[in-house]
Amino acid sequence: LLLPLGAFMAAFIIGMVVWLSRRRLSPLGELQIAVRKREFIVHYQPIVELRTGNCIGAEALVRWKRPNGSLVRPDLFIPLAEESGLITAITDQVIALVVFDLNRLLVADRSIHIAINLSATDVSTARVLPVIEKALQHTGIEPQQIWLEATERGFVDINSARSTVVRARELGHAVVIDDFGTGYSSLSYLEGLPLDALKIDKSFIDTISTNSATSSVTPHIIGMAKTLKLKIVAEGVETQAQADYLVEHDVEYGQGWLFARPMPAAEFIAYCRQAKAPA
Ligand code: C2E
Ligand code: MG
Ligand code: MG
Ligand code: MG
Repeated sequence: LLLPLGAFMAAFIIGMVVWLSRRRLSPLGELQIAVRKREFIVHYQPIVELRTGNCIGAEALVRWKRPNGSLVRPDLFIPLAEESGLITAITDQVIALVVFDLNRLLVADRSIHIAINLSATDVSTARVLPVIEKALQHTGIEPQQIWLEATERGFVDINSARSTVVRARELGHAVVIDDFGTGYSSLSYLEGLPLDALKIDKSFIDTISTNSATSSVTPHIIGMAKTLKLKIVAEGVETQAQADYLVEHDVEYGQGWLFARPMPAAEFIAYCRQAKAPA
């Protein structure tokens, strides 16, 4: 009886010490530990063809899984990760997780792609490209199945951004501008980049309402995307009225709570299979 009791007490004391020491850490200190202990997981939000509802892929969205089991949203730690330089290690972990989680699905269905979010640092240095190449080795996943998303902020340093985009496309990846319309990029600026798709920011989708009192900006944003001859993904689609409007305006793809929330890999795999099955 004494032996298990002793073991229990020891475990309890160690647990308390770990808990107390973590509590005294700064947010940056905690994030450093999280990176070292690989406390990140990825949820996948389906991207669908608006006309048919077919699942064409997903966006990989990182979450920090705290030791107590709670999930921290990326908005709460990505900015700190970017400031501190920890972001590159997090990007690498996301890449490894995507390959680990979805290897079988991606090999079984070549039409599925996964979009990975890159930070401004990843875009300006291109460091991430060999990391992806290496992660895909021996997996059977095609580079075409990995899309790379970056916001307009990622293209501030246009010359290094351009060489990263060019190299990424040489390797077979599609490059996507994220949160389109919220940055400062002009048409002429984007015309100089060989992009594949752009994601219209949720704030523009939000203005699409049932009574068609839609802001004048949204059709303009859609028009810009068409001028650039890029694939368009609408993000943050929450209502059927928004989806209908987008179909009417020839926007092909969408992502949002109307279709599905971000979900763990196993659920996404099931969702994708079922959303593709003939009706
Ligand atoms: P994002 O890349 O624009 O991702 C879309 C965000 O919108 C996600 O938030 C998603 O959950 C949310 N969303 C999608 N559909 C809807 C909807 O219908 N309604 C509402 N209200 N929200 C919707 P999430 O997962 O919290 O991610 C927030 C941001 O964090 C992302 O915005 C992205 O900028 C960043 N992020 C996420 N994962 C990564 C990552 O692995 N690396 C980097 N560098 N950034 C990441
Ligand atoms: Mg994104
Ligand atoms: Mg976005
Ligand atoms: Mg967004």
